[in-house]
Amino acid sequence: TIGMLALDKAGDLAGACTTSGAAYKMRGRVGDSPIIGAGLYVDNEVGGAAATGLGEKVIKVVGSYLVVELMRQGNTPTEACRLAIERIKSKNPDYRDFQVGFVAVNKNGEYGGYSLQKGFGFALHNEEGKKYVKADSLFS
Ligand code: ASP
Repeated sequence: TIGMLALDKAGDLAGACTTSGAAYKMRGRVGDSPIIGAGLYVDNEVGGAAATGLGEKVIKVVGSYLVVELMRQGNTPTEACRLAIERIKSKNPDYRDFQVGFVAVNKNGEYGGYSLQKGFGFALHNEEGKKYVKADSLFS
């Protein structure tokens, strides 16, 4: 999945995502990416979030919407992503067997990401330049 979040000079947020879906998926499977609230969510008053990983797990917690709501409650983007990952862990006894990652940005341009298993990160392009940001994970 490629999830993209943007904050423009006027302070407006936008997001998009695209995916090839899960490997060996069943014909007709719909993952999280095309479902607003699951794979992607943006509220121009708060921030935006996007997900990658096993879509079924993301859909069940309405993951990207959850991240945005956690930011609305005052959490930083990184903290909101971490709390959403904790939620997924708490509902899935098999949490060591799949990956989910979230990336988020808020209205102030603060950003972050977090994943269940190690190895997740995101590309950042802002006024300071471009870089790859390694995200923290619940498990290493
Ligand atoms: N989230 C995607 C899906 O479940 C897969 C991915 O992130 O690669 O369809």
